[in-house]
Amino acid sequence: MRTNPLFFFAILCQLPALAGAQEVEKYVEINPGTLPVILLAPHGGSLKPEGVAERRFGKFLTDANTADLTRRIADAMLEKYGARPVSILCLMHRSRVDCNRELEEAAQGDPVAAAVWERFHGAAAEARKRVSQMHGAGLVLDIHGHRHDPARVELGYLLGAATLDIDDAALDSGDALSRSSIRALVEKSGRPLSEILRGPRSLGSFLEAQGIAAIPGPALPSPKGADYFSGSYNIQAHGSRDGGTVSAIQVECPWEGVRDTPEKRTEFARKLATALGGYFEAHFGAGLGSKK
Ligand SMILES: [Zn+2]
Repeated sequence: MRTNPLFFFAILCQLPALAGAQEVEKYVEINPGTLPVILLAPHGGSLKPEGVAERRFGKFLTDANTADLTRRIADAMLEKYGARPVSILCLMHRSRVDCNRELEEAAQGDPVAAAVWERFHGAAAEARKRVSQMHGAGLVLDIHGHRHDPARVELGYLLGAATLDIDDAALDSGDALSRSSIRALVEKSGRPLSEILRGPRSLGSFLEAQGIAAIPGPALPSPKGADYFSGSYNIQAHGSRDGGTVSAIQVECPWEGVRDTPEKRTEFARKLATALGGYFEAHFGAGLGSKK
């Protein structure tokens, strides 16, 4: 019996797709975990494959050492809580793909860059679904690096500097909650938004307790004219502004004393892991556990 030549044709048509999938796997590192925490590192990549076109518009600088920092945060959580968060890292350089922008700006028509973006965000969406199923709620931290003054950790909730600069009463009575990436977390807590952004139960407050300057928080409630990043695509797409039970915070890390040396990265990772334990106890009805 003769095999239908169309069968071979069909197989041949699959080959480029299979090769493409393998190639794309190299550029997105996905580390599984069982904690209700998902770490994203979209800007720490350094790989510039020859076949992938340079992006023509947008921002191109990497957030140096944030891939390594993210792995150390995951390690610190394992050390402290006996389990890992999911972590998803883009290893391709930002001049080729920007995994913190919507697809068009991210890949600018390059098919490999687009496939990298799809893999990164597909993994993040899958992780959110699993966290919701396993834990009921959870938190995405989108890890970045900034180099402007003042050198402090900037926590982004999709609320710009002008919104943070208003007083608590105005913040809590306006539409800021519905625009924020921690909408589900705040609604579940029944507490005012301002308290969770910059009160004693804010992530900034738990970082302050670890000796880390963070904005917004009790000591630094608003930027008051200073540079401040409020978050972008990833916390819009993977937070709770538009629904769901997984909230998201952008974590912009300064260079000095946080990202600059391996020792400082480990130190920061351990402090952030400790701060997250307190944050989870305050807002999720349970801590992150403790190592047996
Ligand atoms: Zn960044």
